[in-house]
Amino acid sequence: MTTLHPDVTLLAHNYVRPEVQAAADYVGDSLELARLARDRVDTPYLVLAGVDFMAETAALLNPEKTVIHPEPFARCAMALRLTPGDLLEARARHPDAAVVSYVNSSAAVKAVSDVCCTSANAVEVVNALDEETVIFVPDRNLALHVAARTDKRIIVVPETGCCPVHHALTVAEIRESRRLYPGAEVMVHPETTPEVQAEADFIGSTSGMLRHAVATTAETVIVGTETGLIPLLEKASPGRRFIPASPHLVCPDMKMITLELIEAAIAGKGPVVTIPGDIAPRARAALERMLLISGG
Ligand code: SF4
Repeated sequence: MTTLHPDVTLLAHNYVRPEVQAAADYVGDSLELARLARDRVDTPYLVLAGVDFMAETAALLNPEKTVIHPEPFARCAMALRLTPGDLLEARARHPDAAVVSYVNSSAAVKAVSDVCCTSANAVEVVNALDEETVIFVPDRNLALHVAARTDKRIIVVPETGCCPVHHALTVAEIRESRRLYPGAEVMVHPETTPEVQAEADFIGSTSGMLRHAVATTAETVIVGTETGLIPLLEKASPGRRFIPASPHLVCPDMKMITLELIEAAIAGKGPVVTIPGDIAPRARAALERMLLISGG
């Protein structure tokens, strides 16, 4: 229950504004939010501070609750790009392949997938499948990251895009950060390019980065993910210095979620997230299969 209202639980993603994170009952990455939405919400209303697919995921895993997305225009640019039609065409071209969709996808795309994954469990999910060939959507960089860490054949369909925020991080920016902060460690998200990942000391999801920030002995860490994670890293590992790898690592859609919008949404108890009945059961099944593979 959030301090903002006794009937509301507020879940916030690691990339939203610090004041929104501070007001939230729980802050986490996509996998953590999916689990929290399913297991820890005991109020009739759940407000999701994040982008559209996260609110959809919360609604799919919590059909008994009213899920509110304070700003429906906060939409993941990568998730918007791939359509279910694109994916069905890819399935038709590769009938023996399993389809793994990153949670950063629409409910309609999830509904034509076999299983979902997050950046925290993508390799684990792919390795758990019986099929030897896997269509992986909708992030090309994450697909290549997984392909390098599994014996499965990973198919990257032409319609697969990239996260515009992480994909824009360059090798030159990483090298410049190392020059400015000698001895610093570099950690990056698997949505960055393979070339950037090759420059890093650690590659991981935001939850992986938070754990690594506690374990590392480096005094300074260069952070190659959305800057919303920086205050959480500082809180998790006080006394260490965390430097954004680029000033451009800002997701404008995540930053659209403000405290004012959340307060207005709670006061008006909307906008409510609804998933069409013809896609909800199949999309939910893909999410639940992921949770089953990834430790419940
Ligand atoms: S950071 Fe990238 S993947 Fe995440 S919501 Fe923004 S555009 Fe989508």
